[in-house]
Amino acid sequence: MDLSQGRPYLAIPGPSVMPEAVLRAMHRSAPNIYEGELVEMTYGLLPDLKWVAGTAHDVAIYIANGHATWEASLANVVAPGDKVLVPASGRFGYGWSDTALGLGVQTEVIDFGRQSPIDPARVAEALAADRDHAIKAVLAVHVDTSTSARSDIVALRRALDDVGHPALLMVDCIASLGCDRFEMDAWGVDVMIAASQKGLMVPPGLGFVFFNERAAAVRDRLTRVSRYWDWKPRTNPEYYYQLFCGTAPTHHLYGLRVALDMIRDEGLSHVWARHERLARAIWAAVDAWGQGGPLRLNIADPAHRSHAVTSLSIGAPHGTALRRWCQDDAGLTLGIGLGMETESDPGSDGFFRFGHMGHVNAQMILGLLATVQTGMVAQGIPHGPGGIEAAAKVIAGA
Ligand SMILES: *Cc1c(COP(=O)(O)O)cnc(C)c1O
Repeated sequence: MDLSQGRPYLAIPGPSVMPEAVLRAMHRSAPNIYEGELVEMTYGLLPDLKWVAGTAHDVAIYIANGHATWEASLANVVAPGDKVLVPASGRFGYGWSDTALGLGVQTEVIDFGRQSPIDPARVAEALAADRDHAIKAVLAVHVDTSTSARSDIVALRRALDDVGHPALLMVDCIASLGCDRFEMDAWGVDVMIAASQKGLMVPPGLGFVFFNERAAAVRDRLTRVSRYWDWKPRTNPEYYYQLFCGTAPTHHLYGLRVALDMIRDEGLSHVWARHERLARAIWAAVDAWGQGGPLRLNIADPAHRSHAVTSLSIGAPHGTALRRWCQDDAGLTLGIGLGMETESDPGSDGFFRFGHMGHVNAQMILGLLATVQTGMVAQGIPHGPGGIEAAAKVIAGA
């Protein structure tokens, strides 16, 4: 029986659920973009964005999605012919690498497969072999949203330092910012990119590039920088107009103001702890179900799992069938398997993902888990007992 009428729940790894307060803040007529309230409000966003990122350095905001921040970040630090090192723990590492290729940059990819985080020791080896320092930057994805692998950025920084390599450390936090602990300055990250539609709870459309003085100095040595992607006028504008290289993303900025207020009111460490607890509840349920059936967490080691997205395998065609049932019969939309195709499963039908980033609480995750269990019952997918009880224990702190 179709029981999907009612408030739908989009549990995909971005765009995430948006708070009503964010939506309300955006529901207004167009403001003046030359002076007044919007201008003052925008300058006030910058310190709060930096606080969420854990940096005292600079941030440039673009009207852009995550893909654009891959390009924006590279456009400021590399030139055609330069080389970058890309340790990839999933599809998104390749995405950043492809963006570099499109800019005429050479890429050396180290592939860590579909079930593992970045191994800093192998990155150190590759850097040690680069004696003439041809590698200008290391492009690392903190949480790869396809595999849900979370890499250790502190250990990666140490790998660069241990071999004394001067490459910039650039990190994609699009899936992790505002979900998983991340501290740009304390962790020695030179460039960090993020976007509005995941942990930041705002619709897709704002991209952020955070950069420190080392990265700024690299930008200043380039002979030519794309006028649009250039982060310099965006961070040191003489006129408000330069902040966005044209018209400001007016309504997104109002939404972002409210989202940042919500993060500040909750407290950043509480935001991280909430994501962790909810993620642990998901893992506990999946572990119990997996005792009696094919469902598995894609990342075996809890220390390397994202707290914002969970990639699961269940065998084709169960992944797609389960997603369909959850959406069509229960009003819950789960994420598709991404980058998991094999010869016997070209459509990644044996995989699916949960997005649990941003505006999510205990009742939402318990509803998600109970719905998934019901979907397995409805689809006749074998699974062990006790999944919901295991999640309840984690959430209750028992
Ligand atoms: C979502 C995501 C991207 C791409 O963002 P878009 O807004 O879809 O372009 C890049 N990297 C990571 C880690 C992501 O999660």
